[in-house]
Amino acid sequence: MLPYDCDLDKGINDGEITLVETSGTTDDKITNIWNQKWWDASEIASWKLNSYMSQIATGSHNEAILFNPINVGIISDEVDLPMESRRLARFLYLNEKTDPVAWTPAIMERMIQELNTFQPAVFEANPSYLARLCRYINNIHKIVFQPGVIVFTYEYTSHFYYRQIRQIFPNVPMVSSYGTTETGYVFMQCEKGKLHQNSKYSRVDFQPFQREHGGPLLGRILVTPLSNHWSYLLRFDTGDIVQLEASEKCDCGRNLGLILSSVNGRRANLTLTCGGRLVTLYELDNALSVLQDIEEYELIQTSASVYDLHLVSQRLDKGKLSEDATRILKMLYGQEAKVSIIYKAAIVPERSGKYLISRALFPIELERYLA
Ligand SMILES: [Zn+2]
Repeated sequence: MLPYDCDLDKGINDGEITLVETSGTTDDKITNIWNQKWWDASEIASWKLNSYMSQIATGSHNEAILFNPINVGIISDEVDLPMESRRLARFLYLNEKTDPVAWTPAIMERMIQELNTFQPAVFEANPSYLARLCRYINNIHKIVFQPGVIVFTYEYTSHFYYRQIRQIFPNVPMVSSYGTTETGYVFMQCEKGKLHQNSKYSRVDFQPFQREHGGPLLGRILVTPLSNHWSYLLRFDTGDIVQLEASEKCDCGRNLGLILSSVNGRRANLTLTCGGRLVTLYELDNALSVLQDIEEYELIQTSASVYDLHLVSQRLDKGKLSEDATRILKMLYGQEAKVSIIYKAAIVPERSGKYLISRALFPIELERYLA
């Protein structure tokens, strides 16, 4: 993908580029050419697509980050790193542990303390990680510093995560940002809740699904990043499933590029009904969202009509919860669905450090479902 007039060794020696390994949501590890200048420019352009971000994100603002260090940051599982070892330019990495399930109360107390002293203008987080911290804060009834804006990246923001985070940050604007290492920042959620294409830095081709699988507004995207002199990618399949905004308009008035009503999860999140219809994570999460007091869940479709729902819940009436969850899943997947509800103390992320939330244990060839 390197343009013919670019010399890789020279670029690395000159410090213009580095090589990075991405840990994809699936298991593939890929080496990419990392062009920091282009990445920063793509990010800054995306801020214009949200009025909170365009006011608060100046490029010199301080930013707290709660990711898995496998994705970004510094890994230190054995030793707890002091705050100054987790600072980089205007950033503070709150977490150095690869397994969020193993966060101790002391680590979460430290995160709360550091938010209070660092006072970030922008707080960027994996929704699953921030939700875990918020459940802890909620349990001990602590007040925490309220940043100017919270930005979600890397993962799908489940209704359950969103509610847990909202409890702790009741008035902070929350924004979803979508992109990949290969394509830069591709979509940004505006203050009216829709997602706008970062048109200066990406061309997006939309391929609708067949009508019986949610088309013509639901489909996948192929992204061609623009203006990256060090990498020419054409129609890169990011693995994201999106829903176009039917009106092609948004109340915020921005009208350049594609407008999405939602990002519906990733290809890796897709499951099938017993009748063979595609179900996105968005559809599953909406259906389950009526359940109360769920901390986390994971739905695994093990074969054509067998579904295992893993639940983390402190509810005492688990019999009623299991009954409700089974009824919802049978309505979504078909009355013949074999549903098991399995209670767990916690759900662990994938090896990539991200939570998938839903998946099928058999391949789903997406090309078969395209219109
Ligand atoms: Zn808008």
